[in-house]
Amino acid sequence: MAFRQAVVSGMAPDGGLYVPATLERRPADWWDGLRHAPFQDVAVAMAQVLLGDEFDEGELAALIPDALNFPIPIVRLDDALQAVELFHGPTFAFKDVGARTLARLLSHFEAADEQPLTILVATSGDTGSAVAQAFWGVPRTRVVVLYPEGQVSQVQEAQFTTLGGNITAVAVRGTFDDCQRLAKEAFADAALRQRVRLTSANSISLGRLVPQMFYYAYAALQAGPEARVVFSVPSGNFGNLAAGVMAWRMGAPISGFVAATNLNDTVPRYLETGHYEPRPSVATVANAMDVGAPSNFERLQWLFGGDRAAMRAMISANVHTNDDVRRAIAELHRRYGYVADPHTAIAYLGTQAPQHPSTSAPQHLFLATAHPAKFAEVVEPAIGEAVPIPGPLAEALARPRLVERIGPTHRELANLL
Ligand SMILES: *Cc1c(COP(=O)(O)O)cnc(C)c1O
Repeated sequence: MAFRQAVVSGMAPDGGLYVPATLERRPADWWDGLRHAPFQDVAVAMAQVLLGDEFDEGELAALIPDALNFPIPIVRLDDALQAVELFHGPTFAFKDVGARTLARLLSHFEAADEQPLTILVATSGDTGSAVAQAFWGVPRTRVVVLYPEGQVSQVQEAQFTTLGGNITAVAVRGTFDDCQRLAKEAFADAALRQRVRLTSANSISLGRLVPQMFYYAYAALQAGPEARVVFSVPSGNFGNLAAGVMAWRMGAPISGFVAATNLNDTVPRYLETGHYEPRPSVATVANAMDVGAPSNFERLQWLFGGDRAAMRAMISANVHTNDDVRRAIAELHRRYGYVADPHTAIAYLGTQAPQHPSTSAPQHLFLATAHPAKFAEVVEPAIGEAVPIPGPLAEALARPRLVERIGPTHRELANLL
């Protein structure tokens, strides 16, 4: 199975997830050679190892920097605490990293093809905007975004319902889990797939996961050769964490991970009890992480060979309430003058948990996954100040919404497609 085929089809025919056949481990001196390299160079070097079979060097050296054309600042808050800001792309959320790369991979693979490709995405907020923006105007592609009506923020909705062109936004009367189910049912409908060439761009797509490995390695290298880096990852579908674990397996100098969640605690409960019990999602202030049945859990299982003890040695987990989140936003502002969105605040809270199993003196790097202006309704009351809205976000809010509405049934979605 080629990477190309995994990217173009999204999900395997049996409903399973694609994983890399091997994660070739690079030796320490290979990584040391990248210590002072800029982000894009680290990304291209890793892409060459991972995808070199299917691309020539020049293709990756053009495609990757075109996709990842925004900075990833690392902000030091104190001796052992840094924020890795992944939200400086066009939609002000970290999903731009995966979505922009996937869009370019697909159009690269599609170049010779005639029939347009439909990218079907279920979103609880940020995925929809990142994918819609990433594919907007890309030839021979059409994006259909499914989202739970009334359950995404104003700013998120504005970003994927105001584009038009090859982007169709579909409000589903139901929850995010309904949207994810509808997408799965569409992919499983053979008759529909005869008619429409469907692919996915959710975090189940390997083409989104691979580029997320790059910033883990870059940030870990920046922390210096002595640092025992522990990443705190605000987790919902667990694609981001799976990418981090893949970077570690490739040999990037990472000591451990914290999986920090909101009240949707399916994976933390698994780590604690050994029972994997998906539940309906619960709505929280960090809504891009409102996932009760995380679709990347299978990949984590695969990465640790199904061994929970091995997973626990590398990943600790903790769970945070809406009140915890508001307190953390206030605390970051008061202590460090740092303004964080609710998801980033959960990552910060992850760094405060008791000692990590992997190391006693960690350098904590928490992933800042969205710009605080995207969640101003939560952030502003917590810090008692206004959060300035970046220009492109303000423009999206002012544009008219273009939305199709359906009930949560396969028939209605199939008709629409
Ligand atoms: C999607 C998202 C997350 C969670 O990432 P997963 O890969 O689904 O675990 C965290 N923060 C923000 C802002 C997101 O959009």
